[in-house]
Amino acid sequence: MHGPSESFPLDEASIRSALDAAPIDDPALIREILTKARAMKGLDDGDLPPLMAIQDPQLLHELFDTARWVKDQIYGNRIVMFAPLYVSNLCANECLYCAFRATNRELKRRALSQEEIAAEVTCLLSQGHKRVVLVAGEAYPKEGLDYILKAIQTVYKTRLGSENIRRVNVNIAPLDVDDFRRLKDVEIGTYQVFQESYHRETYSRMHVRGLKSDFDWRLGCMDRAMLAGIDDVGIGALFGLYDWRFELLAIMHHARHLEERFGCGPHTISVPRIEPAEGSATSEAPPHAVTDEDFSKIIAILRLAVPYTGLILSTRERPEVRREALNLGISQISAGSRTNPGGYEEEASDGGAQFSLGDHRSLDEVVRDLAESGFIPSFCTSCYRMGRTGADFMDLAKPGEIKAHCHPNALSTLQEFIEDHASPETRRAAERLLADSLKDMDGRARVLAESMVALVKEGERDVFC
Ligand code: SAM
Ligand code: SF4
Repeated sequence: MHGPSESFPLDEASIRSALDAAPIDDPALIREILTKARAMKGLDDGDLPPLMAIQDPQLLHELFDTARWVKDQIYGNRIVMFAPLYVSNLCANECLYCAFRATNRELKRRALSQEEIAAEVTCLLSQGHKRVVLVAGEAYPKEGLDYILKAIQTVYKTRLGSENIRRVNVNIAPLDVDDFRRLKDVEIGTYQVFQESYHRETYSRMHVRGLKSDFDWRLGCMDRAMLAGIDDVGIGALFGLYDWRFELLAIMHHARHLEERFGCGPHTISVPRIEPAEGSATSEAPPHAVTDEDFSKIIAILRLAVPYTGLILSTRERPEVRREALNLGISQISAGSRTNPGGYEEEASDGGAQFSLGDHRSLDEVVRDLAESGFIPSFCTSCYRMGRTGADFMDLAKPGEIKAHCHPNALSTLQEFIEDHASPETRRAAERLLADSLKDMDGRARVLAESMVALVKEGERDVFC
């Protein structure tokens, strides 16, 4: 019997022994696992260590090829776009890698007022964003959690002409079940929190003060969120703190636990890598820095292991790393991001930022780059608004039925971006891609997509199925 405060039973010893026992470059075994992955039913935890241990360039090539194939079968060339919205950098914790930590006296502290939040949202809307992830440090102004709940309501009700943010995901510190119910009541999309490290000893060393130093409180967070009725949760680890192989297998165990207990695994998995943060020696030289090649491996293996789970990549990564990651399995990316509260309105200043970014391009530039590379930037928020969340979403996604919605929705929301926000160069690239995409579709899906795109061209907005 599980209790609300119980975390999933993370078994470090079994993870370690599975990693230690993995054979290196056994071609027959690797190919057997890759063949299984092509059935797109996911992998068992035991399949992961041999893939992580691949060293042979030919086998690595086959791993990446299989990931590209699975990605293409399930997601096609669509990439969902979002922006982070940092509302506050107040924090009572002491995470050694983060600029927001309590003892960083150099950081300019700021919690945005509701008016300032509305101004940030207006900026994001003027760029063309429709989906945000609201982010905050773990210390709120005197209203406590009410500050965050009001902030979410402010985001939803802010309008720029007829435009508004249609989905607010949230990345804030773990809550108890009652507070998670309050968060659900303000209609969040996904609730995200990263375990940072699933390795207890590393976790203790990295989180030296405040509520966050309680490893088990954080580990049980998604159990509490799902008990409170939040259907879509997003997990992840901060890569660079500990051995990535351990973290990856632990993420899989976590996903499996949620699936067994609640009938649905995480909606998304994020793969943040540590970036330099103001005044943090740990972030400048992470104890287990992950190379670009290993980072690609992480993404490819996740794509094969949980084919229907969204994989999120942020602007922590450089454009060239992001391009490769999109091919291997990433399905959602942020663009035009700022990690300092107020950073969208006060573009010139990055004082108070959480960490430095690898991709500084605007949303318009990223959309153009995606379109020129054959990816369809999608601003779709349809599933969440049609109630296709949690297990209901997975029931549609697994037999491949969700594609019938995703593709037309991606094209109609891209047409909105073209009409309302694109620069002339971006418009040209996106129109070319849209025309080619429609040509490649057939049957009912094409008729549906063409009619939705036509409605947007005629001036209708928020056309979705
Ligand atoms: N304060 C809450 C928490 O820690 O869960 C939520 C927001 S926190 C600002 C969001 C995430 O930023 C953290 O979970 C951590 O993984 C990530 N982060 C912190 N410092 C970072 C750094 N130097 N580089 C990359 N990501 C970092
Ligand atoms: Fe605070 Fe989160 Fe940064 Fe830790 S990671 S110092 S909890 S904002």
